Amino acid sequence: MEAFRADFPILHQEANGHPLVYFDNAATTQKPKAVLNALLHYYEHDNANVHRGLHLLSNRATEAFERARAKVASYIGAASPEEIIFTRGTTEAINLVAQAWGGAFLKPGDVILLTEMEHHSNLVPWQQAAAKTGATLKFIPLTGSGTLDMEALDGLLTPEVKLLAFTHISNFLGTVNPAQELCTRARAVGAVTLVDAAQSAGHLELDVRALGCDFLAFSGHKMCAPTGIGVLYGRAEILDKTPPWQGGGEMILSVRYESCTYKPAPARFEAGTPNIAGAVGLGAAIDYINGIGRPRIQAHDEALALRAFEGITELPGYRVLGPQSPRGGLVSFVHDSIHPHDLTSFCDQKGLALRGGHHCNQPLMKKLGFPSTSRASFYLYNTPGEVDRMLGILREADRFFA
Ligand code: PLP
Repeated sequence: MEAFRADFPILHQEANGHPLVYFDNAATTQKPKAVLNALLHYYEHDNANVHRGLHLLSNRATEAFERARAKVASYIGAASPEEIIFTRGTTEAINLVAQAWGGAFLKPGDVILLTEMEHHSNLVPWQQAAAKTGATLKFIPLTGSGTLDMEALDGLLTPEVKLLAFTHISNFLGTVNPAQELCTRARAVGAVTLVDAAQSAGHLELDVRALGCDFLAFSGHKMCAPTGIGVLYGRAEILDKTPPWQGGGEMILSVRYESCTYKPAPARFEAGTPNIAGAVGLGAAIDYINGIGRPRIQAHDEALALRAFEGITELPGYRVLGPQSPRGGLVSFVHDSIHPHDLTSFCDQKGLALRGGHHCNQPLMKKLGFPSTSRASFYLYNTPGEVDRMLGILREADRFFA
């Protein structure tokens, strides 16, 4: 995989006098030249507004935008591009479902079932939906090792559950949840399912029809694409029944002063000028990832995570949180006596970019009794040598703060 480093210009620099090691990929990944060039080409040659233009550039921009939608559809195994809605990212995609679908279909007495390991993006929108509709929130608890307590699920999956929304891979613990089993069991009680694929879409193969989910959300910027572009997949039957959430241009069939009629999905959910260049960039990112192959990326990221898990566990004073396996490409860890912010800043001084904080998992962090953790998250351009460098820096920190 080291050959791919040449595709990422940003990696070839020093940080605080040391060669940069970028281990903050769960927050956002770096962008290969192929994606940067696609953006430049789009703005230099094709830029115009989409869909309503009757001129060459508008037609080219529309084709590029819709080509990107088709690429996304085949990337996640959707039945058709009409099931792909472009959003700003995972957060906006989940808010869309919570407001549009939740607003129309949730009512008092209904249960929204989440897990205890949700990112705030898959928690706060449901708190808001519950407050508006009178539905109740419930949570699948975790086992001591940081996996979902699947036995507790039996008691929780009652006919009152109208929605099960869960993260595919935890951005805090690295836990890989059994997405297919969760969707199958939820469907058996008639619940709609939403998979937060923010941490999986760029790392492993996804097939929404094999998973059997109704909605799936992810962010382009966590898989080599620019910021500000993301995806909501929705099964056609459910999108057809879901009312729009935002109103404006592009999403209407006809407008009178007092009322209007709406287009079918996906246009119904894409009011206003979309992030056209972002979608083009996402299409280029998908081509780039497909050129390498997700099974290779997954094996590579997981091998780095395992190397880090085992290495950090052996260091004096350190502890890694979450299960050893299966695990996505990240590790969260704490030291007995060094505050995670001090540790993360110490690493930064050595050129190592980690993330320190609550990782948008405050309720779980509180439950486990940590103020915050340090997190290293890996992607296709990271190397075993970089993991070893991190282990050396962590050992140094243990001595420095002693
Ligand atoms: N869900 C998970 C599991 C995440 O890790 C993140 C980002 O870290 C999000 C949702 C939110 O993604 P975005 O900020 O791109 O909308």
